[in-house]
Amino acid sequence: MSNRSLNLDDTLYHYLLGHSLREHPCQTALRAATASHPRARMQIAPEQGQFMALLVKLLGVKRAIEVGVFTGYSALSVALALPADGRLLACDISEEFTALGLPYWREAGVADKIELKLAPALQTLDEHLAKGEAGSYDFAFIDADKVSYDGYYERCLSLLRPGGLVLIDNVLWGGDVARPAQDADTAALQALNAKLHRDERVDLSMLPLADGLTLVRKR
Ligand code: CA
Repeated sequence: MSNRSLNLDDTLYHYLLGHSLREHPCQTALRAATASHPRARMQIAPEQGQFMALLVKLLGVKRAIEVGVFTGYSALSVALALPADGRLLACDISEEFTALGLPYWREAGVADKIELKLAPALQTLDEHLAKGEAGSYDFAFIDADKVSYDGYYERCLSLLRPGGLVLIDNVLWGGDVARPAQDADTAALQALNAKLHRDERVDLSMLPLADGLTLVRKR
């Protein structure tokens, strides 16, 4: 028994997946297709995708944002959870990586819910703010280059309605955030974690899920 989060070993992790993971066949196939990719570690964990989908349903999300698509597993997870008229603005700069996911989005019948924008995400988010979309989104997932996280966070927070949720990925960064930073990515995550802790505009919870996921609710 413990009053702190468990450190999962392989046996317990496989138990967790074996007793809770529900994937659409296209999610399983996309995960398998990404497993051999040299940057496969950039894909979110399947139990994280399922958790995000649950949040999307709990919040009744209709308008969502994703910053950092990679091969599209998280976008697929969110899109499958959105209602028929729900929309996901998916931001990435890599046509090569995102193209891997497209066939699976189509096969799952959710490609029409996903607007893939291939451009620097700061620019895309600024364009949507300039169009007067502040306060009109329900949900955002940030999982891209770490040095720009604070810029993504501020823009997503502006685009969210009060009560909307921002999810920030990799906040524990393999444990590096708890040690003196040796690189810019770690330093950026440490700075954002410290800022969020005292950010009076939001409620938050930092979860030791996958590589660390912070849930931030706009007040
Ligand atoms: Ca990530």
